[in-house]
Amino acid sequence: MSMEMEWDDPMYRSTVALFERTAESMDLDPNIRRRLRYPDRAIITTFPVRMDDGRVESFHGYRVQHNNTRGPFKGGLRYSLDVNLGEVTALAMLMSVKCAVMGLPLGGAKGGVRVDPSKLSRAELQRLTRRYTTEIINDIGPESDIPAPDMGTNEQTMAWIMDTYSQMKGHAVPAVVTGKPVSVGGSLGRGQATGRGVVYMVMDAARHLGMDLGEKTTAAVQGFGNVGMHAARKLHKMGVKVVAVSDVYGAIQNPAGLDIRALKRWVNKHGKVAGFPESEPLDPAHLVELPVDVLIPAAIGGVINEKNVQKLRCRILAEGANGPVTAAANEVLRETRDVFVIPDVLANAGGVTVSYFEWVQGLQSFFWSAKEINQRLYQIMSKSFHEVIDVAARRKVDMRTAAMMHGIGRMEEAMKLRGLFP
Ligand code: GLU
Repeated sequence: MSMEMEWDDPMYRSTVALFERTAESMDLDPNIRRRLRYPDRAIITTFPVRMDDGRVESFHGYRVQHNNTRGPFKGGLRYSLDVNLGEVTALAMLMSVKCAVMGLPLGGAKGGVRVDPSKLSRAELQRLTRRYTTEIINDIGPESDIPAPDMGTNEQTMAWIMDTYSQMKGHAVPAVVTGKPVSVGGSLGRGQATGRGVVYMVMDAARHLGMDLGEKTTAAVQGFGNVGMHAARKLHKMGVKVVAVSDVYGAIQNPAGLDIRALKRWVNKHGKVAGFPESEPLDPAHLVELPVDVLIPAAIGGVINEKNVQKLRCRILAEGANGPVTAAANEVLRETRDVFVIPDVLANAGGVTVSYFEWVQGLQSFFWSAKEINQRLYQIMSKSFHEVIDVAARRKVDMRTAAMMHGIGRMEEAMKLRGLFP
């Protein structure tokens, strides 16, 4: 079987296509190019979990460590039925680039378990998480690989991983994961960081484009999870009209703007956005096609594809999700000046940046204020935004190519400086 077949997944093919095209346009060293195309290491585990009714179920888990030249492997852990080796590898590659674009001393990894977490009880999720952690216990650690939340996981998941790891080591090791609850060594602002960072990047993009971000500005947000909800909330707080929001169950709209705080209370109570008073139902497929100033896909990958890319009518596309635009759709976007793309490796990097702060705080047992965290987050993200803008202008390329070039360029430099062992 060829190596490629192992990784046969649309997200992997899309990400490798993007990587190859970037490598071509930046004239990447062929040796570095061959090495970065595949991950350093991929762990695949099948492990049993006892369900509440006494049955034993098998689950497939992954941890893919893409590159650690610039620092320990870093990246989230995803619980979703779509998880496979190809998807996790693509996401791990994006993490390497993301950390490099932000200038963080970290490499890239991603993990996942193929499971629908909404179908498991809390006790089952806890057993699954603890067993998955023991399967990869020798491969993670504060100096080697530091997981974090991603789709389908949250701070409770991280607390269980931290506890399992610490029990095995015989002492508390908070720095083994980030995105933990604050009471067990988490960082202030980590929960909001990804959504907040998306809005920081929208602010910089608007300034760059000479656009006002006020009550005349409209936004649509796909996904009302940890990323979409916090992004929508911050936009609403700034006075931007969030005219449409969706989640896995459906979509709603209100051309006068949705009250996001009230929507959050509604979702806490009813579990979904649908039915929210002062809104009308919207076909979820149409959300990305709305004529808005800012569109934030903050749910799953591949939602902007060949079928709908021509129908986009937004001015700024801020990628809260990882890989929301397929490679084919990206080719179309590169040709148009109408949509300003803030690529995932830049737009959603607020999460891993505050993860980095959390890791640093944990290692030093010295914690920062929320104000310090948000200021430093904005500083790092804004600096990276302008570096990417510079690359785009200098190399005459689109924002995604520029961000990829910037990140891969930093990895190339580090790989060359460190050289080969032995
Ligand atoms: N899962 C998030 C991402 O895709 C955060 C990763 C982290 O904090 O390590 O960027």
